[in-house]
Amino acid sequence: MSETVYNFSAGPAVLPKEVLRQVADELPDWHGTGMSVMEMSHRGPEFMGIHAQAVADLRELMRIPEHYKVLFMQGGAIAENAIVPMNLLRGGGHADYLVTGQWSARSAKEAARYARVNLVADAAKLPAPHRDGETGAYTFVPEQSQWRMSPDAAYLHLCTNETIDGVEFQRPPSQGAGPADVPAGVPIVVDVSSHVLSREIDVSRYGCLYGGAQKNIGPAGLTIVIVREDLIGRAHPLCPTAFDYKVVADNDSMYNTPPTFAIWVAGLVFAWLKRQGGVAAMEARNIEKAALLYDYIDASGLYENRVRRQDRSRMNVPFFLKDRALDADFLKGAESAGLLQLKGHRSVGGMRASLYNAMPIEGVRALVGYMKDFERRHG
Ligand code: PMP
Repeated sequence: MSETVYNFSAGPAVLPKEVLRQVADELPDWHGTGMSVMEMSHRGPEFMGIHAQAVADLRELMRIPEHYKVLFMQGGAIAENAIVPMNLLRGGGHADYLVTGQWSARSAKEAARYARVNLVADAAKLPAPHRDGETGAYTFVPEQSQWRMSPDAAYLHLCTNETIDGVEFQRPPSQGAGPADVPAGVPIVVDVSSHVLSREIDVSRYGCLYGGAQKNIGPAGLTIVIVREDLIGRAHPLCPTAFDYKVVADNDSMYNTPPTFAIWVAGLVFAWLKRQGGVAAMEARNIEKAALLYDYIDASGLYENRVRRQDRSRMNVPFFLKDRALDADFLKGAESAGLLQLKGHRSVGGMRASLYNAMPIEGVRALVGYMKDFERRHG
C-alpha cells in the first residue's frame, strides 16, 4: 500500500493528524495529572475545564447566540430522530418533515411513532427537473413552492446535508409570511450531522440543530444539540429523563456521565479549527476541494454525479462509474494507491468520497489523479 493514506469514509471519518498526535501524546498522562482523560471523574475540575472549553469554542466557532443551549448528548442522530419529537412537539400533535434523502426519510419514519407527521415533500416522488422528470432517487432539493407546509406544525424538520445521497442545502429556507415561506413561528429543526462546521451556518435561523460527532467533530459517541431556550421545558411525560433537553441543559450535559473521551477529542478538534482560521476559512477550502472533484467528474466520460448542481454536497460526493463492471477494479486500485473507504453506501452502490474538514486538498488531488489515470486505462 502507498505510504500516504487518504481516508474518504463518510463516518466515522478522518480526523486531523495534528489532533491524533496530540491525543497520543497526552493520552497516558493528561497535563501532569498522572491520569488519562478517560479515567477522570467527569465532575472533577480537570474534566469540567475540558468540557467548558469545548462548549465555549463551539459557541465561538459557530457564533451561537446566547439564547441557545449547547448540549452534549449520546445516541447519535438516530436517537435524536425520537428525542426531537419527544422534546419539541410541546403538546402539539403534528410536525412537518421534508424528505430530501435517506436520512431525512428515516427521521420522518421514526417521528411518526411519536407524532402525526406531515410530509411536506418527498424529493424521490417529485420529477427531478435536471433529469427529464425522473423519479425514485434523491438528487435535488424541491423548490420551496412545492412544499406543502402546515401553518400550525410544532416544527419543520430538514436534513441540510444528506450524507448518503450527497444533497446539501446551500441556504436556509426562507421563513415569513410569503406563500412559499416556512410560516413565521414554526421552528426549523435541522440534522447537520455531516456538514456542521464545514460552512457558516446562521444558527439564529433555526430552532434546533443536531448531529453526531463522527464526521466533522470527533469520535463517535457524542451528539451535539444546539437548541433555542424557549423551545425546551415541555418534553413529553414519557421522554426519558436523560433525553429531556431541559434536564440536560440544567445539568450542563452532566445529568448522566457524558462521553468524556469523545468530548475531549472534540474539544481538541475545535481548537484545531480555530488555529485553521475558523469556519469561514474551512468553508473556503471546502469549496475548493469540492470544485476540484466535481469539475473533473463533470468533464470525464467515465464518471457521473447525478445531483443537481446547485444542490450538490461539498462534504459527500457520490459518483458512479458508467460501467459498473469496473467498480471492483476501481476500488482495488484506489486502495493500493492509499485512497481508502471510497465504496458507496450499500443502498446506492457506486462510490462516495467524503471531503470533511480534516481531508486536505492534497487528498482530493490524489483522488482526482487516480481517477484520471483509471479513466485513461479504461475510458
Ligand atoms: N443523519 C445523518 C445526516 C447522518 O449522516 C447520519 C450518520 N451517517 C445519521 C443521521 C445517523 O447518525 P448516527 O449513526 O450517529 O446515529
